[in-house]
Amino acid sequence: MNGPIRTTCPYCGVGCGVIARRGPKGDVVLKGDPAHPANHGQLCSKGTALGDTLGLEGRLLYPEIDGARATWEESLDLVASKFAEVIARRGPNAAAFYVSGQLLTEDYYITNKLMKGFIGSGNIDTNSRLCMASTVAGHIRAFGADAVPCCYEDLEAAKLVVLTGSNAAWCHPILFQRIKAAKRKDPDKKVVVIDPRRTATCELADLHLPIRPGADAILWNGLLDWLQSRGVVDYAFLEEHTKGFGRALAAAKTREGIPRVAASCGLLAEDLVRFYEWWARDERVVTVFSQGINQSTSGSDKVSAILNCHLLTGRIGKPGSGPFSFTGQPNAMGGREVGGLANTLAAHMGFTPENVDRVGRFWKSDRVASKPGLKAVDLFERVLDGEVEALWIACTNPAVSLPNTSRVRDALAKVPFLVVSDCMRTTDTTRHAHVLLPALTWGEKDGTVTNTERCISRQRAFLDAPGEARPDWKIFCDVARRMGFEGFDFTSPKEIFAEHAALSAFENNGTRDFDIGGLVDAYDSLEPVRWPAPEDNAAGTKRLFADGRFYTDDGRANFVAVSPRPPAYVPDVEFDLVLNTGRVRDHWHTMTRTAKSPGLASHLPEPYVEMHPSDAADRGLSDRQLVRIETPWGEMVARIKAFEGQRRGSVFVPFHWTGEYARLGRVGPLISSETDPTSGQPEFKHTPARVIAYAPAWHGFLLLRGEGSAPCSDYWVRVPGDGFTQFDLAGDHRPETWASLGRKLLGSVGGTARPLEFHDEARGRYRAAFVEEGRLVACLFVASSDDLPPRRWLQGLFHSDSLSDVERMGLLAGRPASGHEDDGPIVCTCFGVGLNVLVRAIRREGLASPEAIGAALNAGTNCGSCVPEVEALLDEHRAA
Ligand code: SF4
Repeated sequence: MNGPIRTTCPYCGVGCGVIARRGPKGDVVLKGDPAHPANHGQLCSKGTALGDTLGLEGRLLYPEIDGARATWEESLDLVASKFAEVIARRGPNAAAFYVSGQLLTEDYYITNKLMKGFIGSGNIDTNSRLCMASTVAGHIRAFGADAVPCCYEDLEAAKLVVLTGSNAAWCHPILFQRIKAAKRKDPDKKVVVIDPRRTATCELADLHLPIRPGADAILWNGLLDWLQSRGVVDYAFLEEHTKGFGRALAAAKTREGIPRVAASCGLLAEDLVRFYEWWARDERVVTVFSQGINQSTSGSDKVSAILNCHLLTGRIGKPGSGPFSFTGQPNAMGGREVGGLANTLAAHMGFTPENVDRVGRFWKSDRVASKPGLKAVDLFERVLDGEVEALWIACTNPAVSLPNTSRVRDALAKVPFLVVSDCMRTTDTTRHAHVLLPALTWGEKDGTVTNTERCISRQRAFLDAPGEARPDWKIFCDVARRMGFEGFDFTSPKEIFAEHAALSAFENNGTRDFDIGGLVDAYDSLEPVRWPAPEDNAAGTKRLFADGRFYTDDGRANFVAVSPRPPAYVPDVEFDLVLNTGRVRDHWHTMTRTAKSPGLASHLPEPYVEMHPSDAADRGLSDRQLVRIETPWGEMVARIKAFEGQRRGSVFVPFHWTGEYARLGRVGPLISSETDPTSGQPEFKHTPARVIAYAPAWHGFLLLRGEGSAPCSDYWVRVPGDGFTQFDLAGDHRPETWASLGRKLLGSVGGTARPLEFHDEARGRYRAAFVEEGRLVACLFVASSDDLPPRRWLQGLFHSDSLSDVERMGLLAGRPASGHEDDGPIVCTCFGVGLNVLVRAIRREGLASPEAIGAALNAGTNCGSCVPEVEALLDEHRAA
């Protein structure tokens, strides 16, 4: 790297610009890009910690066949010949690809071209099915195309921002910060959060509507009816630019009006009316919606119910106004553009005969698939029943992320030929692969991504390719050529981007929304640009539909009649709670990258279930207790996080933990395979569940210098730290002796060295520490209760090259010897400020505002991601 390199963050759909530079010690220094329109130089906690994640630990660096190292030639030959053989014997639909919103657009383009264009099947789907498919369906039904109308500036220009089913503070932090800054400048700006639980996003809310899970369509239908009945209608827009309003209104009308809607939504009528009035009073309204709307068996209808309200009022295509879906993944939008979803063909074209013919002529192929392929959940079901015999998974971990993952694992174990291309060697999915192909990852590869506001940006390489890893586009091209297909002679992502741009413009003439014909030659110098960017407007387009013309046959937007449906499964006597799943602030997907950052990993180190304290008490459960969460489909173990902001009757569990990081912490097996009939998106937000005590006979934790494998215990969670690894442990059976349990858990830790040991058989305690040449190598604490020493001070001992006598004494005593106070788990990742430090500052030093805390401790002064938690701590402890 000779100078600064501009790239984009690999995590969420905000798509922040990042600048990579060589640091003074030869390391890579990463900062936010001040010139990028998404973030203007800011990064959230995940983006700030990107530098921690660049190491090669755990990387897949060489191809493998059946677990043994192989050459690229052998591996590619085998993949091509196996796929060709299956297709020849069973037809193209016996082959399938399952890819990812983490792929770059050029990778995505090639995978789609190979499957739909030349193998001749629609069987390529992407993990975007799990997060955005309902939005895609809703957009296409209303607008005739999967088009996001808004841009980020609309969030700032709006007088009302509604966030429904979106915890933007944690999941799209930079957009949350932009809304926050705009609200600070404009005291009249209102923010409404609609979410069953009080999330960090509620820090900004003038009104929080803790809606009954699953009732979203009722609330939005109610708004449609309320707006129409009060004449809050843009009649000219309705008349000239839409159709189908009558049917939509008839479906939305409730005879009982507001009281009935409020009761159905579990809300106070006055709160609902206040929301409706705020929505009505200024046309600058942006409705942000995300996974809380999409991940439902009626997600498409929920999206339609929101879009209907914007169409009725003409609040679309204008500054500060429009429905705005926040995309989960960094390139979910790019995947949608190339046809990564099984039900779209390419370049936002569907499977009409004209489009199939057009794409076939462009690709010079007479084998283009003529109909949609299998959507994600169905795809793995067809693997299970033997219809799909050859499967290639790229850049994703479906053994963790799909619903009902026990069935997915069965499918992966059963499929006759499984190829996985990934950057990581060991994931819950790679362990099933017959062929493993090492792929490049962020920082090593070049291409483009599209963010939530349709903005296409470059990702640029600033690291050398490690081992024998290759870019995904090249791996797929090499297999395509071996299968005898022409049209895959690309030598760079630049050539692929040019073809992708040319296809978007091919016979388009303004009839299709996705046209980037003006960017065909722009790759090398591409600046962030929002599509459409056709040949005569290469500078791009801020917002869509300003002229009221949509991409339907007659140019009018469609209202969709929505009859609200209950979730697929509702609580009953046996499973009396609603399980909701989602993200945490500092982890990304299945943690393969974020777990490399000790700061990120320590924010919420253990799988947890957030539960209202009264719901916990009703079940004889208490805060911090380990519990079993059970549904009709599976079970897991997590620790209770009692929280009054959780809606009663509902619980929340994060989805990040995999079998690599927690033995019993995966939530995927608990979710049903039921999907939205239109979008195919699963229902991750509404699963009947019960929570019962998990009463282990013992608890413990082990801290090891460096890395290590999990001790043999019924419950373990691995938490990577700065120079050490922590394992939280528990076991079902009382040991014969505590010393024997301790020694079994230590296994080969410490080699032949003897540990310093303490055990109290009567009270059920065992402690051990290995110290070598003055340095702590490992320590283990086991007890019959979960009254264990605090972790932070022990973790700090791994940074010492020479333990003092006092520290050694403290080790076996299980507490720091001289009045040392533990810092507690990390809240501010950027500055490593712990929970206990913040609580002490509030309670003892009387710090009473985030600003005062920032000034004293720095917490919250970099990315700001922790400020909502600091606010919550202030609320809880200020009075004390
Ligand atoms: Fe990355 Fe954070 Fe920006 Fe998302 S908001 S793109 S995670 S820096």
